[in-house]
Amino acid sequence: MTTIVSLHAIEILDSRGNPTIECCVELSCGTKGYGQVPSGASTGLYEAHELRDGDEKRYHGKGVLKAMSHIEKKIASLVLNQSAYEQEAIDSLMIEEDGTTDKSQLGANAMLAVSLAISDAAAKSCRIPLYQYMGGDQLSQLPIPLMNVINGGKHADNSLAIQEFMIVPHAFKTFSEAIRAGTEVYHALRSYLKKHKHAVNVGDEGGFAPNFKTHEQALDALVEAIQSAGYKPGDEIGIAIDAASAEFFADGQYDLNEKKKLSTEDLIARYQSWCDAYPILSIEDGLHDDDWEGWAQLTKALGDKIQLVGDDLFVTNVARFSKGAKENIANAILIKPNQIGTLTETLTCIGIAKKHHYQTVISHRSGETESSMIADLAVATGATQIKTGAPCRSDRTAKYNRLIRIEHELGKQAKLAAWPYNQ
Ligand code: PGA
Ligand code: ZN
Repeated sequence: MTTIVSLHAIEILDSRGNPTIECCVELSCGTKGYGQVPSGASTGLYEAHELRDGDEKRYHGKGVLKAMSHIEKKIASLVLNQSAYEQEAIDSLMIEEDGTTDKSQLGANAMLAVSLAISDAAAKSCRIPLYQYMGGDQLSQLPIPLMNVINGGKHADNSLAIQEFMIVPHAFKTFSEAIRAGTEVYHALRSYLKKHKHAVNVGDEGGFAPNFKTHEQALDALVEAIQSAGYKPGDEIGIAIDAASAEFFADGQYDLNEKKKLSTEDLIARYQSWCDAYPILSIEDGLHDDDWEGWAQLTKALGDKIQLVGDDLFVTNVARFSKGAKENIANAILIKPNQIGTLTETLTCIGIAKKHHYQTVISHRSGETESSMIADLAVATGATQIKTGAPCRSDRTAKYNRLIRIEHELGKQAKLAAWPYNQ
């Protein structure tokens, strides 16, 4: 039996220069595996707890020494001598030891670092790629990339309330061709912005962060860029939005930085008018995390035309997602392993999505590491989409490059997922 013989944690940096955890697990066969944890900025209210030290003298309170010590003491005493191939059992042991519903005792960051390190070590000890270890040897589908090329909200220092404007290169045979098309549009967008005297600085996820006065300007820029790169807007490359609307919701109203604030109904009407005027294929977190009624209205209005993704709404949480699926709210779920804190629970959530015919969009966080684990997760679970930023900044391209490599490894059988809705 290949067992876990040691567990260590160190404090590394994420892409925003904040500390995060890297866990190293060593197996009896001598194999080492690593797990690194990303961090969000526009976090959902119901995410599992990210344990930070709060000691202002270190990293402005953001240190993760407590979580590291949980790994090396409490978690190590649970998992040492366990089989490395019993992912579910190990994750359950940690969940039990933590004993809270939001993982605030051990810290979801501590637990995920261990969970991911064990899967990495187990795959390496079997001498197979991580996607194959998690998903078997019959895999062939690569996810469509949702590439966030204009950043706003909490990810940029500009006037856009909407957090993400993404391009969706879906009508391509291979993942590499989709990435090439998306990247050509990214460069065309840069030229467009320069021509119109906008800044081309980038935000947290590598997308540009121009100071547009209206959201329509961002949508116009995307359509122009798609066209000038030689592609057909909608038919070949569509648009996706992550509103992250909880960030601009207060006192019952949504504030898009316009003269008038909007009610739930006004905002739904705005999305409808954008969908009529622009090739929008997907809207994420169109309404805030607690507005189940509004979400039901939004789903009724747009759910049979476009993809509606619950991120902060579902937080990769089986209980919240099951409630939503039962009530037919949204039609897709964003999957972020650190929202829930273990690989097993992440895979369970994906399984429930499949059962309910919800699309899964595997996602990075705005604060990332160089880990490309989510690329393997997307292929392993046959996700139709992955969202991992612009084709810019190594924390983002690490995931796209990993998918290009996986596509190469899969050879002729590899194919890009089809866009799952009629347009
Ligand atoms: P976050 O943003 O990582 O800052 O939460 C990503 C998202 O909202 O999808
Ligand atoms: Zn989101």
